[in-house]
Amino acid sequence: MMSEPVSVQAAPDELAQGPSRGQAVTAPLASNGQGTPLVEASGLTKYFPIRPSLLARMLVRQQEKTVRAVDGVDLAIHSGETVGLVGESGCGKTTLGRMLTMLHTPTAGEIRFQGNPLVGQQVTVIGDDGRPRKVPYYHLTQIVFQNPYSSLNPRKTVREILSVPLRARGLKTTGEIEAEVQFLVERVGLNPRHVDRYPHQFSGGQRQRIGIARALAMRPRFIVADEPVSSLDVSIQAQVINLLEELQAEYNLTYLFIAHDLSVIYHISDRVAVMYLGHIVEEGTTDDLFATPHHPYTQALLAAVPVVEKSARRNRILLQGGVPSPIDPPPGCPFHPRCFAKKGSICEEQLPPFFQVGNQRVACWLYDDQPVSPTAASGDSERL
Ligand code: SF4
Repeated sequence: MMSEPVSVQAAPDELAQGPSRGQAVTAPLASNGQGTPLVEASGLTKYFPIRPSLLARMLVRQQEKTVRAVDGVDLAIHSGETVGLVGESGCGKTTLGRMLTMLHTPTAGEIRFQGNPLVGQQVTVIGDDGRPRKVPYYHLTQIVFQNPYSSLNPRKTVREILSVPLRARGLKTTGEIEAEVQFLVERVGLNPRHVDRYPHQFSGGQRQRIGIARALAMRPRFIVADEPVSSLDVSIQAQVINLLEELQAEYNLTYLFIAHDLSVIYHISDRVAVMYLGHIVEEGTTDDLFATPHHPYTQALLAAVPVVEKSARRNRILLQGGVPSPIDPPPGCPFHPRCFAKKGSICEEQLPPFFQVGNQRVACWLYDDQPVSPTAASGDSERL
């Protein structure tokens, strides 16, 4: 039997007091003082085993290997905010987003929704009547996929695609479902007369709108938007981003917005988390992080953003080498083989914890105990 849709009440506030600069912090940053996060990940880890074929095992004695896609991530996302997640391809952004929607089961770690731990695929929330009740996690969280061409079933019409989550939400009669389909299609900016068309009859931007309508159909509280505009034209990107912002204001949605386009992240995010090789290395408010990036990797990432205005250009940082393999990550700081501001042997031996630097938390030994600030103006930098 389908569960009834549940609206979730806000949890009581527990205002966080941040530690001072240079002090190691173990909890995710409660940056906006909104109390208990809507979604919180602690030590979230995902390892993918690579099993060699029987032939490879017999002939060359190849051993089983492990891809450490996400390695002990702590992240807190508050109700109504947008957290941008950035990093190079293969750093674990999508895997983290998929774990937060339980499309991937974590290898280790915990996910909490409004402070309540996820048990299997269910979580306890407070319903409209003020009573705690267990609901399937997918009622509360949804995902918008990167590729609007492959994420919609080509054999189903828009009506059929949207009817599936509506039935899961508890809508039963054909009339109820039809009314909601029409509402959703119109709300995302599509023509309601096109509900019997198939995905291939729409443009890329229109398909992404169908993907957004499908996510919205469950009336979720939290949406992971996994590079939702990266495959769209720039003009269409703006329309889809505006739509996501309108829906957020209308339905008090909370977003984890994954992208590699930093200008998109800057536009839409309240806070930004930077990932490198399965770890979050820096996290802070968008304005603070873009104005004063502290982690050497964040500095390199921001320095690579093309800026038209000459006076606004940053020192360009040329990172040496490529991203290490997540099958065999380096010991210590995962960024140490490419770091231009390495502090010393400690970088190669010990994984840095997070240190509070102003409003940011930074996983870098440079901020251990001395007020050292790495500057982009190192020997490997040049002014464009
Ligand atoms: Fe560079 Fe060391 Fe900081 Fe890692 S911990 S980013 S290697 S200075």
